[in-house]
Amino acid sequence: MKIFSSRLWVMAMCCLGTISVSAQEADKPKYDAHVLFHPLFNFQPGSEYRTGSGAPGPAYWQNRADYKLNVALNEKEQTITGDVEITYKNNSPQALEFIWLQLDQNSFNTESRGGKSTPITGGRFGNVNFNGGDAIKSVSVQQGKDKAVEANYIITDTRMQIRLTNAVKASGDVIKIKIAYSFKVPEYGSDRMGTLETKNGIVYEMAQWYPRVAVFDDIEGWNVLPYLGAGEFYLEYGDFDYAVTVPWDHIVVGSGELVNPAEVLTADQRKRLADAAKSDQTVMIRTAEEVTNPSSRPKQSGTLTWKFHCTNARDVAWSTSKAFVWDAARMNLPNGKTALAQSVYPAEDGGLEGWGRATEYVKGCIEFYSNYIHEYTYPVATNVAGIVGGMEYPGIVFCSSKSRKDDLWGVTDHEFGHNWFPMIVGSNERKYAWMDEGFNTFINFLSGDNFNNGEYKDNQMGDMHRLAPVMFRDNADPIMTIPDVVQPSNLGWEAYYKPGLGLKILREQILGKDRFDYAFHLYVKRWAFKHPTPYDFFRTMEDGAGEDLGWFWKGWFFENYKLDQSVKEVSYVEQNPQKGSVITIENLDQMAMPAKVDVEEISGKKTRVELPIEVWQRGGKWSFRVDTQQPIKSVTIDPDNQLPDINPQNNTWRPVKFAPTEAN
Ligand SMILES: [Zn+2]
Repeated sequence: MKIFSSRLWVMAMCCLGTISVSAQEADKPKYDAHVLFHPLFNFQPGSEYRTGSGAPGPAYWQNRADYKLNVALNEKEQTITGDVEITYKNNSPQALEFIWLQLDQNSFNTESRGGKSTPITGGRFGNVNFNGGDAIKSVSVQQGKDKAVEANYIITDTRMQIRLTNAVKASGDVIKIKIAYSFKVPEYGSDRMGTLETKNGIVYEMAQWYPRVAVFDDIEGWNVLPYLGAGEFYLEYGDFDYAVTVPWDHIVVGSGELVNPAEVLTADQRKRLADAAKSDQTVMIRTAEEVTNPSSRPKQSGTLTWKFHCTNARDVAWSTSKAFVWDAARMNLPNGKTALAQSVYPAEDGGLEGWGRATEYVKGCIEFYSNYIHEYTYPVATNVAGIVGGMEYPGIVFCSSKSRKDDLWGVTDHEFGHNWFPMIVGSNERKYAWMDEGFNTFINFLSGDNFNNGEYKDNQMGDMHRLAPVMFRDNADPIMTIPDVVQPSNLGWEAYYKPGLGLKILREQILGKDRFDYAFHLYVKRWAFKHPTPYDFFRTMEDGAGEDLGWFWKGWFFENYKLDQSVKEVSYVEQNPQKGSVITIENLDQMAMPAKVDVEEISGKKTRVELPIEVWQRGGKWSFRVDTQQPIKSVTIDPDNQLPDINPQNNTWRPVKFAPTEAN
């Protein structure tokens, strides 16, 4: 999901948040090493499902859901009607007497929990004045060699429970669930799906469009948090075959791969797609001029059924419109593999300032992430311009049709970054937004620096002193907060920036790039297409990097501990600088970090001292000796502003009276 704020908002927050630490407050000793370095953090033992090292254990299991879907869009009624067949496999060691499904469309209704918990002021995820939701026509289940039978089910808000006569047995038993349903398409579904009127027709962005199985796991059993709006999704992996029937003049794009191009594309379009698959430059598949020309469709009346297949995904989404301009280019993946980047957008949003470069952005970020983290796994990556500000689905993203230039790069890069978190690494977004948004924000920093020689490099995240007052706002929620519990105005910081910057600090200031990258890659490798918890991440990072980071996870992710390093005093050994100097630094607030200290002598000679986190294990004050020749002109802690120090005013020591040596 797109970050709530624009970059400008970050700037504004930084300006607003000038810190005022009163002298009295600063004097109180807030730091306690016993609290930060508590030995019982992360003390729960591992299990045969998840080991103490953070890896999936020898008996790790997860359930699987394969989907077959057939739906049709009725443009006049603005409805989707169809059916889904779910093949659900119970790999757990426990028989299941019932199955929980998610009917997320039910949230898009004034009477839903999401609707009723929408503040009167509305808000981004608000769902008011719309009476949508799934109309369920039939539900049947089929087990073993038995015939399909009508299912016994209940619906409570966005959840459906199917109560079974015969349990789905442990360790591999399968049940088929078939549901016929329809829903009225909301214009604006919590900024995750909806419709947009454009010059040449409506753009439909379809997601949460079919009943999906909830995750049953070894941590919580059934994960049944309702869909309220802010919390995203937690879904099982499986293969998808889906068919979408739309009016003849529409173009449909979707997760995975189009499997019947001969039926739905013109010969010209198929030829251009083949050309695009060999081209690093963007190739037009359907130009702006062709959009209103009926000959750009293989038939000129009735409907067409577009069929897609998507392998090993946790969800699928699609988009359709008669207004789409369409272009595409090849992506070059590691090991010589290729995939197709493509964009669809209204003609009025094209051009090099706008969506005319969208495919170039898709290609740029996916090639980067494929090299840095894990190879992109779908044959196609599609960027859709529509009403949704920015939302990710496997192999397809919805970005605002109004986005231009760096804004369009930023949202495209962010939404496709999600293809790694949570699409490849399948964490529980509804509970832990930071495990996808935060990790994604972190890799976005790297991708932004990389794209087109830094064309859209973001310099705002470099000066941590400037960011500290915002990061450590008094009303901040801890990162470890359920997204529906985070104050809406805090979500941008708590789910995106603070965890993202935390990983940047961990990489650049605590572990170093090599150790961080090794452990981070290990996490992705271990948990690709699986369901990691926060502890699986913490433990993998600690094991892979070889560092006990309990203090860091605790202070940064679980608490709102602030950082305030300072230089306390300087003295000379036997009052003689030539015999060396003793520098005393302090850690004044609850968080701690390794320290970098620059010592400058009056001669201009500079010495940099780097101290590990362990100097803060016995208390908040630390003295160390530096070889000097001359009196000291200044001592500065964190001289490069690389740590979020809440009070940088106390970071530099200067002698009370310093007279420079006279020139000859
Ligand atoms: Zn996001």
